[in-house]
Amino acid sequence: MKRIVILGAAESGVGAAALAKTKGFDVFVSDMGKIKDNYKDLLKEYEVDWEEDHHTEELILSADEIVKSPGIPENAPMVLKAKEIGIPIISEIEFAGRYTNAKMICVTGSNGKTTTTSLIYHIFKEAGYNVGLAGNIGRSLALQIAEGKTYDYYIIELSSFQLDNMYKFRANIAILLNITPDHLDRYDYNMQNYTDAKMRITQNQTEEDAFVYWADDPVICRELKKYGIKAQMCPFSILKKDGMIGYIADGQYVIEKPTPFNMEQEELSLSGKHNMYNSLAAGIAAHLSGIKDETLRKSLSDFEGVEHRLERVARVGGVQYINDSKATNVDACWYALESMTTPTILIIGGKDKGNDYSSIKELVKQKCAGLVYLGADNTKLHNFFDGMGLPVEDTHSMKECVAACVKMAKPGYTVLLSPCCASFDLFKNMEDRGDQFKTLVRAL
Ligand code: ADP
Repeated sequence: MKRIVILGAAESGVGAAALAKTKGFDVFVSDMGKIKDNYKDLLKEYEVDWEEDHHTEELILSADEIVKSPGIPENAPMVLKAKEIGIPIISEIEFAGRYTNAKMICVTGSNGKTTTTSLIYHIFKEAGYNVGLAGNIGRSLALQIAEGKTYDYYIIELSSFQLDNMYKFRANIAILLNITPDHLDRYDYNMQNYTDAKMRITQNQTEEDAFVYWADDPVICRELKKYGIKAQMCPFSILKKDGMIGYIADGQYVIEKPTPFNMEQEELSLSGKHNMYNSLAAGIAAHLSGIKDETLRKSLSDFEGVEHRLERVARVGGVQYINDSKATNVDACWYALESMTTPTILIIGGKDKGNDYSSIKELVKQKCAGLVYLGADNTKLHNFFDGMGLPVEDTHSMKECVAACVKMAKPGYTVLLSPCCASFDLFKNMEDRGDQFKTLVRAL
């Protein structure tokens, strides 16, 4: 019997284990850390053997195939050993993709994945399509398939880590939003390695498929030529230019193909320049999938947005507080700052993933009235920003941070949590960071 070993027992790993078990494989799950109780329960339900806190080499290296969770780096010792002896290592999505005939609409990019994926799902739902949501968001694809869900479409958010271990998987519609430096710590600080991972979203696409991409991204445009992409090309831009399938012109949101579609830009529910891109990408995917014009128009205008992404929290003492905790890289913060219309106190800091802050320096100068650093170690921020002459505060907890913002912000200002960094130095995750911010702000 073919043996499948799964490394990592969280959402995707446990989902893969459940699916492998239902397909009759000999299955074993191994996690170097503690496995959460809800996942242990699920493993028990599917009668899967597992271990936690360590990896037992004999039990792992006897695998015919390994499914690696996206959180485990390529250079983890057990992964290296498995590679050395030639065991194929795949991702959960690659594995799950073998067991469904649903059409796959896949979204990747450095920023905007969750927003765009959720928006597409919202449009398809509103259109009454039989659609599932999976990938980096919600429940794993593998688990849904194990549970016997039979959707016509899956809308899947794909991170570069998931793409890393995908080989045969084919996206019917692939969306690439942008490529800017992120997670470089996992790619030997080499931007090309990270770019290659993102471009894998186009692999295996045929002439019947579509590739939707942001045509103003210099990295995407340069890379496109290298890949011999067979899919129908669907570029979009914020400006009307030659060859664009979607764009914004004269206050109109326009999709040209397969049939012309337009609506007032003002009617789009998501605001900010970055969200024009997300709305274009989502609209093109929906339009290609035959969603009716009235439904598309309605659902692009009544989408409520996603928590922790430029989320308005409250207005207190004339100050608007915005939670953009999901801005875990510099580019996301760039777009947040760009959309600010009042003097802004920017909360920045956390676990730095090799950030270069030069790209936001100009916007900080234009938009910010003060900076509040929030991290276990703020030295890099002091070195980079202190010389700009803005008031700065050094804080090491959300409580200190919000107190510092209250002191700095005058009526009419905006306080923006858009930290450019991961949250793990002081918080459980970015949701915890955003939730703590919201709770403290609401208590002001
Ligand atoms: P992801 O899932 O790729 O991390 P999200 O939709 O969760 O993307 O958004 C992450 C952050 O990036 C948020 O701070 C958001 O405001 C910002 N953002 C969203 N869409 C874009 C985009 N197209 N380009 C740049 N930044 C974006």
